Amino acid sequence: MEGINLLESASPVMVSEMARQCWEDMKPNHSVVITAHRSPDGDAVGAVLGLYHHLKSKGIRSTVVLPDRFPSFLDWIPGGNGIYFFNEETDAVNQLLTSADVIWCLDFNGLDRVGKMEDALRNATAQKWVVDHHQLPDEFADRLLSDPSCGSTCELLVDLIVGWGQMDSVSNDAMMCFYVGIMTDTASFRFPSVTAHTHAILSHFLARGLDHASIHQNTFDEQSLNRVQLQGFAMSERLHVFGEYGLAVVGLERADLDRFHFKSGDTEGLVNKVLGLSGVRVAIMAREAEPGLIKLSLRSVGDISVRDIAASEFDGGGHKNAAGGIVKGKTMPEFIDFLSTRILDWFDA
Ligand code: 5GP
Ligand code: MN
Repeated sequence: MEGINLLESASPVMVSEMARQCWEDMKPNHSVVITAHRSPDGDAVGAVLGLYHHLKSKGIRSTVVLPDRFPSFLDWIPGGNGIYFFNEETDAVNQLLTSADVIWCLDFNGLDRVGKMEDALRNATAQKWVVDHHQLPDEFADRLLSDPSCGSTCELLVDLIVGWGQMDSVSNDAMMCFYVGIMTDTASFRFPSVTAHTHAILSHFLARGLDHASIHQNTFDEQSLNRVQLQGFAMSERLHVFGEYGLAVVGLERADLDRFHFKSGDTEGLVNKVLGLSGVRVAIMAREAEPGLIKLSLRSVGDISVRDIAASEFDGGGHKNAAGGIVKGKTMPEFIDFLSTRILDWFDA
């Protein structure tokens, strides 16, 4: 059947080599830890838990650790309650990392992407097996499956499972998690990175009985009143449009966030709404995480690389059309002023 061939990934040689090595080297008595980047998004959470569920169904036990909490709109995800968070249970996570034989590092390309967990991960003597879709991975992986053309890390993990010949026995919990990652990192299957292969994976999941509708419902249609009101406030009161350049910025200060009882994930998706404004080519969501520290999400359309802007100006990085970074030592009004002085360089207008 043609659909089955489409399950072969875009980079079958790389996947099959990684799959063979990793499967051969996973021993039932191994201590296996699975982790992802700080401020974990849907792809990071889907990846760590999807792999966890899949390994568990094959008799391999593992523990999931994350640098910090995932967005509350994923509170329903299977396995979310069993995760250790470094910023809350530092000693336990240090112990897990120190005594691990294998650490799967998912959805990040450098040790600096795990925040305060960096030293513990760097010093861990375990084998580090990395599966990721960001550009230019740093050299910290003992094994690496990296494909920046792939829309999500979850898609790459499914490719590994295809390589292991286990797609017909992938569990419902694992499918739910992988679906979340593919869905969120492709903005519900709309980015150019989505391919026939992506849809072949989804088709396989649905054929195996995955209830996709309830995943969309749980993720997008169960928003708190605070979240909806914060986003409305942001768009009506905190949006700065530099119309002639196609730049639009939302800047939320601490007081704004406190007013709407901000929780992790409450501003997720906002930057894409800003990018959706007619004429906008670059959108920035700026959030004052603490006094003197502003966190940025950047998005662009077309040829403008927000990865380059984030890397050169904001100590960050990411993908060409979706990146992140930070600003230190500026208030929000100072940051907005700063943007207006830098625009000309970015847009060579
Ligand atoms: P988001 O805006 O969703 O937080 O991040 C968008 C993209 O930029 C993601 O692919 C994420 O991995 C990357 N990114 C976000 N923050 C940083 C950062 O501080 N450094 C680097 N290198 N990449 C980041
Ligand atoms: Mn990702």
